[in-house]
Amino acid sequence: MAKTILVTGGAGFIGSHLCEKLIEQGNYVTCLDNFFTGSKKNVEHLIGDKHFELIRHDIIEPIRLEADEIYNLACPASPIHYQFNAIKTIKTSVLGVTNMLGIAKRTKAKILQASTSEVYGDPLMHPQKEEYWGNVNPIGIRSCYDEGKRVAETLMMDYHRQHNVDIKIIRIFNTYGPRMAENDGRVVSNFIIQALKNQDITIYGDGSQTRSFCYVDDLVRGMIALMNKDGFHGPVNVGNDGEFTIKELAEQVIKLTNSNSKIVYKPLPSDDPVKRRPDLTLARKELNYKPTIKLEDGLKKTIEYFESTL
Ligand code: NAD
Ligand code: UDP
Repeated sequence: MAKTILVTGGAGFIGSHLCEKLIEQGNYVTCLDNFFTGSKKNVEHLIGDKHFELIRHDIIEPIRLEADEIYNLACPASPIHYQFNAIKTIKTSVLGVTNMLGIAKRTKAKILQASTSEVYGDPLMHPQKEEYWGNVNPIGIRSCYDEGKRVAETLMMDYHRQHNVDIKIIRIFNTYGPRMAENDGRVVSNFIIQALKNQDITIYGDGSQTRSFCYVDDLVRGMIALMNKDGFHGPVNVGNDGEFTIKELAEQVIKLTNSNSKIVYKPLPSDDPVKRRPDLTLARKELNYKPTIKLEDGLKKTIEYFESTL
């Protein structure tokens, strides 16, 4: 049966793919976004569809809406954007999440919170399992995001325990793909744009730090699987468990774009995690989740996208 689904941050990179998929499955989607890092352009193709409604709204402010399900993605995700107004970022994860939990409590909607691998901080356990409590600096430049997302998880669990709200927590690992904003600032889009423009590729630090990159379609599949899994609340890691150094990523992007770009080295921002790879055992067991798109294939699709937009 068609559901009414609220997607906050739905005009962002991941949110726009999620809205598209939920509509494709026959649901009615209400997208809330303040357009800080997202844009109408990302959902332009959905506007006019009777299954889609777009509302400009900041989740820090209360709003009264009806929903069967809520996907709470509203929050800037790239370090340059979440550090632009750090206080606003943490408010989004505390006041914003509380507002969305309020809707879930009143309407008895299921609610999924987009959490992050950043809750593990600069992890001392590798790969990261959900049981790991993390190694997070509470007062650093990444804290507004990392600690905000940790409090968001706490709020979700407390609404679950205290008010029996049906919550879901997904810990998303570095995700990339079409519709990342040109000025997003995260590594995959930066490298692709630099390579396509034959500009220097900016590696922060010596490039030996690692990340595990997930193509957006795999992530969205995992998110919907979690929402639909009765009786399971997470937290659960979702991503791709292939692990690459940032230098390897730069080399792959140069190769796939046939670019003349040279690699240059810039200072490493503080608290930049040294390594990151999800342990996906729980996602496999509970959600039957397995990433299907290899880095090379996902990069090719993302390069095609940026070739068409630049
Ligand atoms: P994004 O910046 O493209 O999307 C975030 C969206 O939220 C944007 O459309 C933005 O305008 C909107 N937004 C921000 N603050 C808001 C507010 N106060 N009220 C209403 N809307 C607001 O980033 P993304 O990569 O699509 O990330 C989506 C979610 O997934 C975020 O919550 C992020 O923390 C989480 N996440 C993403 C990744 C990743 O690698 N992409 C990794 C971990 C977690
Ligand atoms: N990074 C880089 N060059 C860039 C952007 C990022 O070397 O132009 C590095 C960054 O320092 C980090 C990694 O790439 O080590 C991933 O950064 P991103 O901002 O994409 O995600 P996060 O650090 O939040 O995982």
